[in-house]
Amino acid sequence: MSGIIDLHCHTTASDGKLTARELLRHAKKAGIATIGITDHDHVGAIDEAMEAGRALGVDVVPGVELSADLNGADVHILGYFINHHDPSLREHLAFLRAQRLQRAERIVKKLNALQVPLRLEAVLEQAGGGSVGRPHIASALVDEGLAESYQEAFLRYIGNGKPAYEQKYRVSPRQVFETIAAAGGLAFIAHPGTTLDEQSLLALLHDGVDGIEVIHPSHSPERVAFYRAIVDRHSLLASGGSDFHGGNKNDADALGRFGITADNLAMIRSRLGRNRLRTR
Ligand code: AMP
Ligand code: FE
Ligand code: FE
Ligand code: ZN
Repeated sequence: MSGIIDLHCHTTASDGKLTARELLRHAKKAGIATIGITDHDHVGAIDEAMEAGRALGVDVVPGVELSADLNGADVHILGYFINHHDPSLREHLAFLRAQRLQRAERIVKKLNALQVPLRLEAVLEQAGGGSVGRPHIASALVDEGLAESYQEAFLRYIGNGKPAYEQKYRVSPRQVFETIAAAGGLAFIAHPGTTLDEQSLLALLHDGVDGIEVIHPSHSPERVAFYRAIVDRHSLLASGGSDFHGGNKNDADALGRFGITADNLAMIRSRLGRNRLRTR
């Protein structure tokens, strides 16, 4: 079967602009045969995506994107083929989302102290009941006329180290790998090119991760080759995708342009149930 295999997409369950159903329609049009649904701290869009996918003939890989703290840096970790109905996974994600909400409240308070009169309600409207993140705060700042642009919102206020920045609830990478393994999934370091130097990446590899997101819009061809070599050297799995959010991130044309090979996906499937945490 031919068709693009894009294992990294967001929906309105987190900071994507499209519902699962809309996303699947766009994906089909873009020539995608297999799509990974990877919302931040949320698995609530997966059932709808699977239903839409069945009707359209697009295969849906259940996934999630979690955050970990590595010496103060934010590392994103993708979990694939998780059992998204697993009650303890769902409970854990609900806890993380509650922490995100409290952090959004703290950020709004900081903004207000800086004479930026953003209301929490405007942020919650952007999030639409999904998991709340800084992208929603940035969009709310723009929509309320309190920032010139999405980028400026991060540069002036909420980017790392900026005056209204607040950390997320801190979880170690190892804890995230365990969460994913416990839900029957495989863990991948997301877009290492944006966050990790080589040393930190290698340290994570020895912590029990199953693979690396090799293909990502932020990775140059040189980076892709570099991560491929690491994957091969350490017998890891390779994943990849567009990290499509559908609007506010200049990624409108990303769907259909980033994906992995059928061989990569077959390797991932063949390792299900044998994640590196469990087999050691
Ligand atoms: P959060 O998980 O709430 O901390 O939000 C993290 C997300 O905010 C990242 O995945 C990016 O999409 C976005 N983000 C973080 N820093 C920046 C930045 N400097 N400029 C634009 N977007 C950013
Ligand atoms: Fe995102
Ligand atoms: Fe990410
Ligand atoms: Zn993402």
